[in-house]
Amino acid sequence: VGPVNAADLAGWIRHAATLVSADAERLTRLDAAIGDGDHGLNLDRGFTAAVEAVDALPGDAPPSKVLIAAGRAIVSKTGGASGPLYGTALRRAGKAVADLPDVDAAALGAALTAALEGVQELGQAAEGDKTMVDALIPAVAAYEAALAGGADLTSCARAAADGAAQGAEATVPLQARKGRASYLGARSTGHMDPGASSTALILRALADVTVE
Ligand code: ADP
Ligand code: MG
Ligand code: MG
Repeated sequence: VGPVNAADLAGWIRHAATLVSADAERLTRLDAAIGDGDHGLNLDRGFTAAVEAVDALPGDAPPSKVLIAAGRAIVSKTGGASGPLYGTALRRAGKAVADLPDVDAAALGAALTAALEGVQELGQAAEGDKTMVDALIPAVAAYEAALAGGADLTSCARAAADGAAQGAEATVPLQARKGRASYLGARSTGHMDPGASSTALILRALADVTVE
């Protein structure tokens, strides 16, 4: 499918909010195992605020405004480490699409890359530290590989969602080196990172809305 517009991106935020809300208990359970058991709750609150912010925008708001408004709302309403990280990711993605009225496959790839860079700048996590970065890196890599192979936006977004899901699975044996889970040392192994899992969910939501 072709480029996505502001309404599509608003639809992404809404769909992500729905998936997060449906999976909040599971995310919280993952966080209870290696963190403080609030990740589902944090994200549910953040995405609810993001939907409100996006719904309050004027009808002619461009894609960048949708992403930036969602990011701001998430920063201000999400407790914990994940709020500023996801908020930064969305705001950086918004800045990356600048004043484009339609975001094509290449521009969406650039936005995802900018989101990853923002998360790493703020959180200083490297690949393998057992964080959301471990879902984002393979997601961006898979997106860019699909794009380079001539795939359309939908296929690129699906590749990103699959990459993120595989990346989240791959956090299970890792020992956390960033965030609360790192306090557990070797006991953080054997559990999926909650933030990597929610990243996979949010990117699945993106792939879902690009199909319609
Ligand atoms: P908190 O740990 O403050 O309670 P959450 O439970 O909402 O916040 O989010 C935890 C998730 O945040 C972790 O599973 C991890 O994916 C992510 N995270 C924590 N610290 C970092 C970091 N420095 N860089 C990237 N992601 C991080
Ligand atoms: Mg937590
Ligand atoms: Mg917390």
